[in-house]
Amino acid sequence: MGGPGLTRPARSGPWDIVFLDRDGTINVHGPGYVRDPEGLVLLPGAAQAVARLNESGCRVVVVTNQRGLATGALTWEQWTTVMERMCVLLAAEGAHVDAVEMCPHQYDECACRKPAPGMFLRALADAPWARAERCAMIGDMPSDVAPARALGMTTFLLGHDVPTLADAVDALLDGSLGP
Ligand SMILES: [Mg+2]
Ligand SMILES: [Zn+2]
Repeated sequence: MGGPGLTRPARSGPWDIVFLDRDGTINVHGPGYVRDPEGLVLLPGAAQAVARLNESGCRVVVVTNQRGLATGALTWEQWTTVMERMCVLLAAEGAHVDAVEMCPHQYDECACRKPAPGMFLRALADAPWARAERCAMIGDMPSDVAPARALGMTTFLLGHDVPTLADAVDALLDGSLGP
């Protein structure tokens, strides 16, 4: 996805991994699933916020539920082309994500659909150098932040704790919340 994966950064910053929800956090959320690349529209300031996380020496991991893949509302090709578009738009602002964790499952049939913790646990297993207390999660739904908080991460619920991704990144990087 344009980054080095979940290797330990050469220059580590205040956070090990910052997890980001996708729809409603990085890009405009629907109505419905984002099926076409043209339908992927970044929220104002989102790419610049991700670039600042990249520069800070943390890894950035997207964690997204995509139940449409289970129902047939979304094809795997659509999923792939939309994510490629997201990466192109981020790259245009000097931003990238280091990994993507996605749940393609139906309700109640897996251990990874948020609010289950499976996607966070997979990423942490891929990054044994990272500690949950040095991680953060930013999302627009209570189901985004609940599993992260249960793992000991710092969390930001957009529209509740802060208005936007950029505000959450400001708070993470201003030094006042050090893990
Ligand atoms: Mg969302
Ligand atoms: Zn799942």
